[in-house]
Amino acid sequence: MPHHHPAAPAETILPYDEAAAVVRHHADQVRLLPHAVESAPLLAAAGRVLAEPIAADRNQPPFPRSTRDGYACRAADLARGPLRVIGQLRAGEAWSGGPVAPGECVEIMTGAALPAGADSVVMLEHVTNAAGHITLSGPRELEPGENVVPAGAEARAGDLVVPACRRIGVTAIAAAAACGAAELRVFARPRVAILSTGDELVDLTAQPLPHQIRNSNSYSLAAQVQRAGGKPILFPVVRDDAAETERAIAEASACDLVLITGGVSMGKFDFVEPALRSIGAEFFFTGARIQPGKPVVFGKLPGPYFFGLPGNPISTIVTFALFAAPLLGALAGDADAQPQFVLAHLEEEVQVKPGLTRFLPARLESDVRGARIRRIPWQGSGDLAAAARANAFLVIPEAAATLPTGTLASALIVDAS
Ligand code: AMP
Ligand code: MG
Repeated sequence: MPHHHPAAPAETILPYDEAAAVVRHHADQVRLLPHAVESAPLLAAAGRVLAEPIAADRNQPPFPRSTRDGYACRAADLARGPLRVIGQLRAGEAWSGGPVAPGECVEIMTGAALPAGADSVVMLEHVTNAAGHITLSGPRELEPGENVVPAGAEARAGDLVVPACRRIGVTAIAAAAACGAAELRVFARPRVAILSTGDELVDLTAQPLPHQIRNSNSYSLAAQVQRAGGKPILFPVVRDDAAETERAIAEASACDLVLITGGVSMGKFDFVEPALRSIGAEFFFTGARIQPGKPVVFGKLPGPYFFGLPGNPISTIVTFALFAAPLLGALAGDADAQPQFVLAHLEEEVQVKPGLTRFLPARLESDVRGARIRRIPWQGSGDLAAAARANAFLVIPEAAATLPTGTLASALIVDAS
């Protein structure tokens, strides 16, 4: 037993916005700390956080690039009369002729390098070609520079192309490949301890007795940790026992972040808060005025930050997304990890009791014009079957009682790809 027991701190139950602000404050502190860096092959780096910016290794484009199939020429020449086609130039081909002279043009394909002497490309569709000579069709003009991207217009050699401290997405992969970056410098993944507590829990490979429940939280959390850029470390289920809970949390403290599910309510066998206290944890909040997830706890152990997430499976998923994911993002080096919200029009009226910010399972459908959302009926925060039919959590502000059909409402996205 530790001989020092800090006085039990007063319960600190915050409205959602304030709890989120507390997490943001700590995430900002975390960003100032040094982060370990490692190398990863380009494709393996997708979804991770870039540690060193990627610079252009040469001008982009490296040559004046034709953006059309057509004829490379001097714009002023084309205005004066027919131009003789002196050759053809494909993408990937170097022009071997001399500079394009007055009265001449070169047939050119999209992506090919503009030959010397030419200053623009007239589109194939905008000229008529008679006996190897082209003339502008119709009352058209060609501007100098039209349909050509000058060398270095997108980036000059040495320019920063992909900034550091951002998650590496599809466009960053493309830009890195264009710069010849086969290996990227990325931040090491934070190690995240996952501890599920509860005497009723059995592993998914075991045959549960009628009064037992399969441990699903360790797996949903592991999936969420992976998505948020962490390395999940699954601990064996922790029994509802003070000494065992303390031992497990102390062991988990070697990780960069500790997630504990269950045992944070006010029940007789909820040992997590007392165990945290006796280990010497600091508490930033011990609850948030939200549903699901009210008993969520956030603080710092001697060492890593921790979250005590309520055990009901939907509470666990929602409180991870709202609070743990942004902090984990900061530990992973991401400069702006935030929970992801979208706006959507309500398809049906929603009525709730005011007093809590609610995150209710919902179905979000979106197309190019926007998004629509409707609730999925549920039996409360243990109803994983309802959550599995949902793809978002409709946000009902604390003060709201009725949201009429058509209201533009916010939705929390948990499964963003
Ligand atoms: P607790 O927060 O420990 O009071 O648990 C609240 C509810 O969530 C109870 O019905 C538990 O059986 C359930 N629960 C707790 N932990 C888990 C878990 N790891 N997986 C699935 N259900 C859980
Ligand atoms: Mg429990």
